[in-house]
Amino acid sequence: MHHAQLLDPFGRRITYLRLSVTDRCDFRCTYCMSEDMVFAPRAQILSLEELYTVADAFIGLGVKRIRITGGEPLVRKNLLSLLTRLGQRSELDDLAITTNGSQLAELAPQLCAAGVKRLNISLNSLKRERFAAFTRRDKLDQVLAGIEAARAAGFVRIKLNAVVQKGRNDDEVLDLVEFAMARGLDISFIEEMPLGSISSHQREQTFCSSDEVRERIEQRYALVRSSKLTGGPSRYWQVVGSDTQVGFISPHSHNFCGDCNRVRVTAEGKLVLCLGHDNALDLKGLMRAHPGDSQRLSEALIQALRLKPERHHFETDAQVQVIRFMSMTGG
Ligand code: SAM
Ligand code: SF4
Repeated sequence: MHHAQLLDPFGRRITYLRLSVTDRCDFRCTYCMSEDMVFAPRAQILSLEELYTVADAFIGLGVKRIRITGGEPLVRKNLLSLLTRLGQRSELDDLAITTNGSQLAELAPQLCAAGVKRLNISLNSLKRERFAAFTRRDKLDQVLAGIEAARAAGFVRIKLNAVVQKGRNDDEVLDLVEFAMARGLDISFIEEMPLGSISSHQREQTFCSSDEVRERIEQRYALVRSSKLTGGPSRYWQVVGSDTQVGFISPHSHNFCGDCNRVRVTAEGKLVLCLGHDNALDLKGLMRAHPGDSQRLSEALIQALRLKPERHHFETDAQVQVIRFMSMTGG
């Protein structure tokens, strides 16, 4: 039994894990991937068993919420078997998935039955051509059908995620809010983050701040600050007179690091301590060198957390500073 907690050097308790189950995707969103992506060879990706082992170690150290992401998590074969195991862990307050929605029409009921409580579904535009331009796939109808299937399946809560770009979809902010309101969904608007190198656009020209998005919404709807805090870069507002919360995810214009409660594990098994830094610990190497040694894995996690950076520097430094601290394989 572990009684250790995951604490970083700044006293932040880590209770939230984002676990990526694949780097692959059936879409090629312009701000996320190039059209000709090269994905990691399958042997480099954590097996479902290894994913469960990682999650189990974090749960043993006090993690209460797990979000499954990717890539597109629903393209991972047999993901349901992992979700079913995690769904049975009573220590978890929340099990959630972030998805592009393309396969929800088929999978939503099974995800719900496996114990997934909340879904985040990405949707940047309600116009077919724009949707296709964002995702490089003409799949708007499929995603809209997925959203309806998710609503029917009975999740605790569904939230839409929209990346907003000036001149591309900033004029759809109100339409998206109303789409969410009409269906009893929440919606978050995301500022594009400078992650990875992309070729399709100059990010400075399309950058749209959360403050601008909020002003657009407030031209038609009253928003009141919600008490909901997630320990992440989101701030929530309630649309007065509705069931809908509107979130703003703004790594650029607001410093959210002070109450950061989360870490990420990539599909290749790298523990990433902060999105704005390149620090990573190779959990896959460790697990493959010492199969079944859960004690060693937990100790590595506790030690790694001592190196979680205090904050990111997106706003001061366009070229995010890269600090490498460890290339630990096998402990
Ligand atoms: N494939 C799933 C999806 O699209 O929801 C899950 C993974 S995706 C990387 C998670 C979220 O990150 C999506 O809402 C996506 O729009 C957003 N995203 C991707 N690249 C981004 C970027 N450069 N800046 C801001 N958000 C981004
Ligand atoms: Fe990236 Fe998600 Fe778009 Fe796939 S659907 S390209 S993972 S943002």
